[in-house]
Amino acid sequence: MTESIPQSFEELGLSAESLAALRQLGFAKPSPIQARFIPIAITGRDCIGQAQTGTGKTAAFVLPLLERLDLDDRRTQALVLTPTRELSQQVADEAHRLSSEHELTTACCVGGRPIRQQIDQLKSGAQVVIGTPGRVIDLLARRVLSVENLKCVILDEADRMLDIGFRPDIERILKQCPKERQTLLLSATLPPPVERLAQRYMIDPERVDLSVKTVAGDTIDQYVIPVDPDRKFRTLVQLLKQERPQQAIVFTRTKRGAENVLKKFRGKLPGAAFIHGDLAQSARDRIMLRFRERKIRLLIATDVVGRGIDVSTISHIINYDVPEDCDDYVHRVGRTGRLSSTESRGTAFTLVCRDEGGQLTNIEKRINRMLESYPIEGFETQRPVARRLTVDELESAEPAAPDEEEEEFGFMLT
Ligand code: ADP
Ligand code: MG
Repeated sequence: MTESIPQSFEELGLSAESLAALRQLGFAKPSPIQARFIPIAITGRDCIGQAQTGTGKTAAFVLPLLERLDLDDRRTQALVLTPTRELSQQVADEAHRLSSEHELTTACCVGGRPIRQQIDQLKSGAQVVIGTPGRVIDLLARRVLSVENLKCVILDEADRMLDIGFRPDIERILKQCPKERQTLLLSATLPPPVERLAQRYMIDPERVDLSVKTVAGDTIDQYVIPVDPDRKFRTLVQLLKQERPQQAIVFTRTKRGAENVLKKFRGKLPGAAFIHGDLAQSARDRIMLRFRERKIRLLIATDVVGRGIDVSTISHIINYDVPEDCDDYVHRVGRTGRLSSTESRGTAFTLVCRDEGGQLTNIEKRINRMLESYPIEGFETQRPVARRLTVDELESAEPAAPDEEEEEFGFMLT
């Protein structure tokens, strides 16, 4: 039997309220992960959804929830766990938008914000609780959050949560949840630790795997810039001058690295800021708001904070340092070329030093394509020598076509 994939939200069996909300949001049709994940999740079955960042996984689990919850019951019926505060907030915001025509109560329970407010929210009844594992455990211990009546637990960005070391916390939470419940797991990648978690806490899950063909590739041009280690910063400036990004994130490997880049810009580039995990939540929120408002044009970020950012106006991702882990590459690059982006394409550049050829090869294997070199005028240097990919590895890889036409972006560095 060939299954047909629904082409419209109407075919997904959503309520009139959801369809109205989707219309208001201007979502014309379900994204591929939504079209395949929703019909399964809506039945109450456990399901694992694997797809690249920016492919609409939030709505893929929120929409079925809206159909499955008893909205007359004020008790907590669903728990969404995410790796970072920003991601929790983004899920909460998206849930809010998607449920604008429903009477749904939610609470966003993350660390770094006053717990009092979250306690009040929980006490007044939150049908869907979205949060980071640490704060959720805290609220469970204080007995203000109850998971007794959960119908559904959602592990969002499961790979990230495990990377950050949330596995023990997640397990502690899951052990308290009712055995009879639905568990949904969403992730860009399914490394063995995620598989193990799924095996232990999910019951015969269905799988929707869109990981191969939907790797960022189609909407994101990706290039490598061979660079001399001691001319990195100047190469970055030249790149920005050349590209004039509408809005960009510059990723560094460490907080110190991010700080250094910002210091060099300070005074010379008013629209630059940097964000990292040690900043107070209020400061992080402020920066994100200004970034969303496009008052910040260049955001320098480390992986932990940066990978969750969902701002559709980001035109460029610049990996100032090669990501240590190739999944980080995918996450970083996924910040541009977003589904709702008004610019149809995003561009990602990765600065690579001579001795980083091995890391580059790992990334190319991960995304299954070769990254073309993009020499910067006046800063040309040798591309790192690494093992070429084999024909097998490249079988389904498509080379990136360079964009001939110059795009007019804002003049941020003139
Ligand atoms: P993911 O969790 O897979 O990284 P998100 O759920 O954050 O992706 O969605 C990325 C962006 O795409 C969000 O801004 C979201 O509002 C938007 N989006 C989601 N589904 C659709 C759709 N069907 N049509 C248009 N935009 C969508
Ligand atoms: Mg997501």
